[in-house]
Amino acid sequence: MKGVVYKSTGSWYLVKTAEGKVYNCRIKGKFRMKGIKSTNPVAVGDKVEFDLEETGDDVFGVIKTIEERDNYIIRKSVNLSKQTHIIASNIDQAFLLVTLNNPPTFTTFIDRFLVTAEAYHIKTILLFNKIDTYTPEETDEIKYLAALYRNIGYECIGISAKTGKNIDKVKEMMIGKTSMFSGHSGTGKSTLINALEPSLDLKTSQISAQHKQGQHTTTFAEMYDLSFDARIIDTPGIKGFGVVEMEKEELGNYFPEFFAVKQDCKFHNCLHIEEPKCAVKEGLENGTIAWSRYKSYLQIMSGEDEQQYRVDNYS
Ligand code: GDP
Ligand code: ZN
Repeated sequence: MKGVVYKSTGSWYLVKTAEGKVYNCRIKGKFRMKGIKSTNPVAVGDKVEFDLEETGDDVFGVIKTIEERDNYIIRKSVNLSKQTHIIASNIDQAFLLVTLNNPPTFTTFIDRFLVTAEAYHIKTILLFNKIDTYTPEETDEIKYLAALYRNIGYECIGISAKTGKNIDKVKEMMIGKTSMFSGHSGTGKSTLINALEPSLDLKTSQISAQHKQGQHTTTFAEMYDLSFDARIIDTPGIKGFGVVEMEKEELGNYFPEFFAVKQDCKFHNCLHIEEPKCAVKEGLENGTIAWSRYKSYLQIMSGEDEQQYRVDNYS
């Protein structure tokens, strides 16, 4: 039998078949996925094959194989062992909620999210929420930001989770797909999900609480079916992805507008910092590449913690 993992407790997995039947499944003995080593061999979103077994009145599934994952997001434990935990897999797209105020979302945060999403191969759509609250000046700032990110290739939609403005557009983009919603706490994730699916009784805390975690606790994602052929993955406590570990030379590949001009840099391994005849720096000079993006690039490159800059520091 085949199905998709909707929930995991670490030892039990809820697996849903295409017909909508849900089975309690477990793994037996040493079950290891090829490739990545993780503390959890099976993650929410995994497509699995399982056999049914019976012990007395109890019927449960035993997971035999996992289909190769299209993508997955991980969290490394902060203790010394630095073990990898797979939070979720097979995510079609991430919606990043952005607000100017209450709370402010800085471009450095957006860019870190996008870099990691690129590295994870997860398509990201920027949702500028709370457009019902902005002054004309703030609306201009949103338009500036949306143009900046659209130019790079990211879809941007101005929405109001509160008034329902453009929620239909979000809905349309979700059909047939598995989506996740991210953004700072307070940007409106739970309000948006309630607007998309009023009957889905997801408590605000489930979607957006800042889970205070001990070093050894892991959090588990959960998948939900919505009424309009869409699925969402709720990843507790994940406002962003953090930045995945990568080589310095790799970072520029995850800024699509840098990657696009890279072949015009004099040096093929150009880091776009000190090198002469750098196409990225030329792009900054002639205005085709945004300074805010470059600033984020340098910040991530240097390994600094996120410094908060606003785009209007550069414009
Ligand atoms: P979360 O932490 O990301 O889940 O954010 P919430 O959904 O809890 O929203 C935080 C606050 O912002 C709540 O008071 C919401 O009512 C409010 N809010 C969310 N979306 C909008 C919006 O589009 N317009 C306005 N005016 N308020 C909103
Ligand atoms: Zn360069």
